[in-house]
Amino acid sequence: LSATQAAAIRLVEEHAAHNYHPLQVVVESGDGAWVTDIDGRRYLDCLAAYSAVNFGHSNPVLINAAKAQLDRITLTSRAFHSDRLGPFVAALAELAGKDMVLPMNTGAEAVESGIKVARAWGYRVKGVAPEKANIVVMDGNFHGRTISIISFSDDATARDGFGPFTPGFRSVPYGDVDAIANAIDENTVAVLVEPIQGEAGIVVPPASYLPALRELCTAQNVLMIADEIQSGLGRTGATFACDLVGVVPDLYLLGKALGGGIVPVSAVVGNADILGVLNPGEHGSTFGGNPLAAAVGHAVVDLLATGEYQARAAELGAHLHSRLLTLVGLGVVEVRGAGLWAGIDIDPMLASGREVCEALLARGILAKDTHGSTIRLAPPIVISKEDLDWLVDELAATLESF
Ligand code: PLP
Repeated sequence: LSATQAAAIRLVEEHAAHNYHPLQVVVESGDGAWVTDIDGRRYLDCLAAYSAVNFGHSNPVLINAAKAQLDRITLTSRAFHSDRLGPFVAALAELAGKDMVLPMNTGAEAVESGIKVARAWGYRVKGVAPEKANIVVMDGNFHGRTISIISFSDDATARDGFGPFTPGFRSVPYGDVDAIANAIDENTVAVLVEPIQGEAGIVVPPASYLPALRELCTAQNVLMIADEIQSGLGRTGATFACDLVGVVPDLYLLGKALGGGIVPVSAVVGNADILGVLNPGEHGSTFGGNPLAAAVGHAVVDLLATGEYQARAAELGAHLHSRLLTLVGLGVVEVRGAGLWAGIDIDPMLASGREVCEALLARGILAKDTHGSTIRLAPPIVISKEDLDWLVDELAATLESF
C-alpha cells in the first residue's frame, strides 16, 4: 500500500464510523467496468457497488442526463410538481407493466415503504383487524439496515444489540413454499421475498418456487412483494429476476441501479388497487422523486427499455457461468447465480472469501466476499468478454496460489 493510499485510509478510519471493512484501495475515478486508484493503478470492478453500477462507471448517457438536469433544477420537494417526475414514473411503470410508482431514495426506504403499503392495503382493502397485520419473510433475507428491516433479519451481526424490534413478521426457510403456506393466516398481508437472495450468497431458489408462491399469494389474497433491489434492472439477464421464471409480483421494490450509480433512487412499483391506498400526508420523503433523481432514473429506464443490457447480461452471464463451473473442484466448491451475477463458494480449507478478495485485489480485480467463504461477482454489464475471461483466468490463478 502506497503512503498516499495509507494516508487516505487513515483519515477515513479516524473520522468515519467503522461500519464497513473495506479492501485496502482508494478509488479516484472510473470508466465502464474499470476504476483507477489514487496512484493511477487500474482495477476491474467486479462488484459494481453491489449492482448499483450495472450500466458502468461514467456511463455517458446517464452522466449527460444528470449534467443537463443539474443545470436546470435539482430539488423542488413534492410540495410542488416538477416537470421531470411524471415522465419518469410513467416510463418506470411501463417498464414494470404496472400503473404506479412510489419514488423514494435508498433501497431500505423502498422496503420500508413496501411494508407500509402492504399493511395499509391489508387494513383498508383486505379487511385485516387493526394492528394485526403480519408479513411472511424468508430466513437468510437481506433487505437493508433500518430497525424494522433488521427486526426480521436472522443475521446476528445485523441485529444483535439493536433492539427492541418491530413486531409483525414471521420468517420461514427460503425456497420452501409449504412453509410459507403454513405461516399464512387471515392476518397475513404480504410475502416479502428476494427472487434470488443476494447478500445470503446469490442463492437461487428451485425454478418452481416463485411460480408456486405467486399462485399461493393469489389464492390467499396476500400480496407478493419482490425485493428486486439487487437482482433487478438487468443484472440476471432480464429486467427482473422474476421474469426468469415468468412471475409477476404485486409489488416490485427497486433501488441501486435505478439511480445509475449517480444518485440514490428507489421505488415501489405496483398497480393502483394497491399503491392507490396511500393518501396525501401518510408517507413521503424530502428527496424522493426529486428532479435530478427522476432525470437519471428515466435515463436508466430508457436504457433498459431497449433490452440491450438484459441481452448482454444473459449472453455474457452464460459464458461466465460456463467458465466458472470449470473451477469446481479446483478450489471452488459451488457456483450459483444467473446472468452476470455469481456466488462462488471457496473451499474453506483453502482460503477465506476475504483472503481470495485480497489476492484478487493484488492482481487488479475488485470483488467482495459475503458470509465467510463466498465471493460474489457482479461486474458492470458493460464489461467486455475479454475482461470477463481475464477475470476467470486470474481467479483460477489466485486459487492455485493458495
Ligand atoms: N434489498 C436488497 C435485496 C439489497 O441487496 C439491499 C442492499 O444491499 C437493500 C435492500 C438495501 O438497499 P440500501 O443499501 O440502498 O438501503
